[in-house]
Amino acid sequence: MESSAAQTLNITTSLLKSRASKHAVYGVLIAFSCIAIATLMVAYLEKGAVSLDNLLYAQKSNFALWVLDLMPFIFALWGQYVSSIMAYQAGAMILDQTSELRAQAVVLEEKAFHGATHDSLTELPNRILLLDRLQQALSIASRQQSKLAIMVIDLDNFKEVNDSLGHFNGDVILKQVAARLQGALRNLDSVARLGGDEFAILLPEVASEQDVNIIARKLQQALKPSFQVGGLTLDINASFGAVLFPDHGNDMDTLMQRAEVAMYAAKKEKSSFIYYDKKYDQYSSKRLTLMAELRQAIDQKRLTVFFQPKVDIETGRVVEVEALVRWQHPEHGLLLPDEFIPMAERTGLITALTALVTELSLKQMAVWKQEGYDVGVTINISARVLLDPQFPDTLIGLLAAYRVEPEKVMLEITETTIMIDRERALETMFRFKDMSVRMSIDDFGTGYSSLAYLKDLPVHELKIDKSFVTDMCCNRDDAVIVKIVIELAHQLGLQVTAEGVETDDVLKMLTELDCDIAQGYLISKPLPADELISCLSNSSWQFTPSIQ
Ligand code: C2E
Ligand code: CA
Ligand code: CA
Repeated sequence: MESSAAQTLNITTSLLKSRASKHAVYGVLIAFSCIAIATLMVAYLEKGAVSLDNLLYAQKSNFALWVLDLMPFIFALWGQYVSSIMAYQAGAMILDQTSELRAQAVVLEEKAFHGATHDSLTELPNRILLLDRLQQALSIASRQQSKLAIMVIDLDNFKEVNDSLGHFNGDVILKQVAARLQGALRNLDSVARLGGDEFAILLPEVASEQDVNIIARKLQQALKPSFQVGGLTLDINASFGAVLFPDHGNDMDTLMQRAEVAMYAAKKEKSSFIYYDKKYDQYSSKRLTLMAELRQAIDQKRLTVFFQPKVDIETGRVVEVEALVRWQHPEHGLLLPDEFIPMAERTGLITALTALVTELSLKQMAVWKQEGYDVGVTINISARVLLDPQFPDTLIGLLAAYRVEPEKVMLEITETTIMIDRERALETMFRFKDMSVRMSIDDFGTGYSSLAYLKDLPVHELKIDKSFVTDMCCNRDDAVIVKIVIELAHQLGLQVTAEGVETDDVLKMLTELDCDIAQGYLISKPLPADELISCLSNSSWQFTPSIQ
C-alpha cells in the first residue's frame, strides 16, 4: 500500500515536472527569438543592411545583446528550479491528503467493526464477539487439556426497576453494572452483554471450581453496594449460573445453553450462584423449550416458507420471490421469523434452518418451473451461515437435486453480517460468485456501510431498507437517502430493490427516481406458494407462465 502510494507520487512528480519543464522550454525559445530579432534590428540600424557579417558585428559590439544572450540560460535554470519545487510541493500535498483519507477510512472501518461486535449502551462486547472469543478459548483449552468456565448473570426484578424508574434510569443502572463487573475481573477474562439485563462472563483460564467460586464471590461483592440513580438508592441482586468445560459440555452451544439453565435454576431456587446439573433441565426457560421444539420442527421439516414477490418497476413483471420462513407452532400458532430467528442464530440452529428454507424454496421453484413460471428466488443468509464453509456445498447439492440454475438464486446478506468477519465473509461470497449465485445487500442503509469497500463486494443488488422507503413520500430525509442509494447503486453498476413499498405514491416516486425493483405490501404480502399465484393473477402485476 505504502509503496504504491510512493510510486503514484513519483509518477505525479515527474508528470508535474515535465509540465513545468515544458514552460521553461517555451521561455528558452522565446528568449532565442528575442535575441534573433534584436540582433537583426541592431545589424539593420547600425549597418543599414542585414548580412551574416553585419549580424556577427552586432553580436560582437552591442553590450545590450550580450546581456540578452544570457537570458535563455537564466530561463532554463530558473524554469528547472521552479518546476522541481512546484512538483514536490504538489506531490507532498497529494501524499498528505491521501494518508489523511486513508487514516479516516481506517477509523471508520474500525468504528464499523466495533459497532458490530459491541453493545452500544455499555460498550461491552456483544454476544457475537463473546461467542467468537469462546470458540477460540475452547480450541486452546481442548488442545492444552485445560478447563474454562462461562457464567451467565441475570439481574433480579430488573423489569420492575425499568417499569418504575423508566428506561433511561434502567440504562444508567445497566452501565453501572457493566462497569462494576468489568472492574472485578482479571485482564484475561471477558464480560459481555447478551441483551436486556443478561451478562455473560468468559473465564478462559481456571484450574478448578474453586477458582470460579472465588471470581463469582468477587463479582457478587462488586454488585453489593447500592446503586445511585435519579436521586434514589437501589439494591440490585443478580442470579449467577455457571458451567465448566469439559465437565458440563464440550461445545459452545451446549455450554452456553447449560449456563443459562443454571442461571434460571439459581433464580427459581432463590440461590445466587449455581453450577449446571442435569436435574436443572426442568428449569429451562420458555425460550429453551421453544428452541428444542424448533430443532424438532427443522429435523421433521415442519417449517413453512412464504414467498413475497419482487417486481420489475418498468415492466410490472415478477422477477423474483423472496423466501421468508414461518413456523406453524402447535400451541402458539403461526410464528414470524422475529420470534425465533434471533434465538436460532444464537444457538447455531440457523445453519440447519437455512438449509431447510433453501431446500423448500428450490423445491417450490422446480414445481413452478414445471408449471411454466420461471421465477428466481432470494434467500436470507445470517452471519453464521455466511461464515459456515459448508453452506456453499449444501447449496450446490440442492441446486443439483432440484435442477435449479444457480443464476436463478439470489442470497440476501446484510451489511452487518459481512462486517463481522469481512475476510471470511468475502471468501464465501466469492465462492457464491464462482457458482454464479447472485447476492444482494439487504437492509441497506441501516448498518454502517463502508462505501470504500462496497465496490469490491461481488454483489448484484442493493436492497434499500423499508425504514427509508415506507414513508419516503412524507419524509424528505428518507426520500433523499433513497435517491442517493439508487444513484450510488447505479454508479456501481448494481441493481436496486426498494422494500416496504406500501402505497402507490411511493411506487410513483421510485419510478421517477429510476429504481429497478419494488417489493412490499402494495404488491403482495408474503404468501404461501399456492396463494401467491391466485393473488397475483387477480392483480395488475404479471406473474404468468413464460412463453416457451
Ligand atoms: P427482511 O429480510 O428485511 O424481510 C422483509 C420483512 O419485511 C419481512 O418480514 C416482510 O414480511 C416484511 N415486509 C415486506 N413488505 C413489507 C411492507 O410493505 N411493509 C412492512 N412494514 N413490512 C414489509 P418477515 O417475514 O417477518 O421477516 C422478518 C425478518 O426475518 C426478515 O427481514 C429476515 O431478516 C428474517 N428472515 C425471514 N426469513 C428468514 C430466513 O429464512 N433466514 C434468515 N436468516 N432470516 C430470515
Ligand atoms: Ca431480506
Ligand atoms: Ca430487508
